[in-house]
Amino acid sequence: MLQEPERTGVISVPGKRKEEEPAGLEIVELGHSFARRRVVDRVSLRVARGEVHCLVGPSGCGKTTTLRLVAGLEPVQEGRISICGRLVAEPGFAVPPERRRVGLMFQDFALFPHLSVAENVAFGLRHLDRAARERRVRELLEKVNMTDYGNAYPHTLSGGEQQRVALARALAPEPDLMLLDEAFSALDTALRTQIREEALAILREAGTATLLVTHDAEEAVRAGDVIHAMQEGRIVQSGAPAELYVRPANSFVAGFFGPVNRFRARVRSGTVATPLGEIRVARLAEGEAVEVVVRPEGIRLSRADGGSGSRARLEARRDLGPVHVVWLRLADGSRVKVRETGIVDVAVGEEVTVALDPRHLFVFPAE
Ligand code: ATP
Repeated sequence: MLQEPERTGVISVPGKRKEEEPAGLEIVELGHSFARRRVVDRVSLRVARGEVHCLVGPSGCGKTTTLRLVAGLEPVQEGRISICGRLVAEPGFAVPPERRRVGLMFQDFALFPHLSVAENVAFGLRHLDRAARERRVRELLEKVNMTDYGNAYPHTLSGGEQQRVALARALAPEPDLMLLDEAFSALDTALRTQIREEALAILREAGTATLLVTHDAEEAVRAGDVIHAMQEGRIVQSGAPAELYVRPANSFVAGFFGPVNRFRARVRSGTVATPLGEIRVARLAEGEAVEVVVRPEGIRLSRADGGSGSRARLEARRDLGPVHVVWLRLADGSRVKVRETGIVDVAVGEEVTVALDPRHLFVFPAE
C-alpha cells in the first residue's frame, strides 16, 4: 500500500528577501466587485524590486482587474496598494495613474502609429530638455536592440520589433513597477520566449519590480521568480514555480501546471482506494470524500506478468522520442494517461500491470 507523500503548508520564496527596503509593489487584501459579482477577493502579494512575479490563472479569474487596480485604471473598493513604500490607492484615495511610476505593456502594443519609433519612446520624457531626451532615447533603443530604427514608423516593424519599442517606451520614464498583461501572447512561440527573456532581463537589471499576468502556465513557470496562482478571484497559492508543481495547494493548482488524472474516493480505515491501487492517507478523516490527483508520470507500467498491482489494458500509445505517452483503460472502465521514460514493451490491446509513484500523486479533500 502506498503512503501519501508528506506535504507542508510552508511557502518558500527564492532569492534574497529585501526586507529592509519597501517592496516594489505591495497589495494588501484587495477586493473588487462588478455589479454584485466579486471578481477579486482578498488578494495580497508583495513583489520586491528586481523580482518578476507572475499572476496566473484561467480566463476570467480576475488577473486583469487586479492589474488595472494597481495601474489606477479602476478605483479601489477594498484593500490597499503601495508602490515602493508609497500608498497609491485605498478606498476613497487614489494617486492618478500617471503619477504612480508604473509602466504598462499589453498584448496589443499600442504604439502611436503617427509617431516614429524615437518619438514613441520619447513620449514619456517631455520633462527632459531636448539633448537629454535624445540621449535617453538612444540609450533605450540600444538596450532593446533597435538602435537603427529611430526614424521608422510602427507599421513598418515586425511584431517582435514593435514589442521591443513598446518596452523601450515603457522603460523610458524609469518606472518603479512594470505591469505586463499577456504582453507577449501575440508573438509566435520562439519569438515570444526570446523577447520575454530579453525584456525580463532588462527589468531585473534595472531593479524594477515586475508583475506579469498570463493565462499560460508554461510562461509563468519559465518567467516568474514567484508565481501566484489565481482561481475565481483569489490567490490560492504563491511560491516558486517548482513549489507549485511539487506541492500544489489544491486540485486546481495541480491540474493547472500539467495534465493530471483524477479519481473520486472516500477515506476508509486510513486508506483511499483507487482503480490504480490503494493509498494510505494520514491527515484525512474517516469517511471524508477526497479527490486523488495523479500526474501521468505517477503511473508505472510493467507487463501483465510483471508482478502484483492493478491490471489495465493499453488502449493507445504515442512515442515522442525519449518519452512515451500511453492511454490505459482501467478495470473500472476509466481511462488514464501515463508518461513513461523507460521502454514500453507493450502493444496496443495487451494487458499491463500498473503501480502508483507517490511522488507524483496528491490527495485533496473533495471540493
Ligand atoms: P482574461 O485572461 O480572460 O482577461 P482575467 O483573469 O484577466 O481574464 P478579468 O478580465 O479580470 O479576468 O475579469 C474577471 C471577471 O470580471 C470576468 O468574469 C469579467 O467578465 C468580469 N469583468 C471584467 N471587467 C468588467 C467590467 N468592466 N464590468 C463588468 N464585469 C467585468
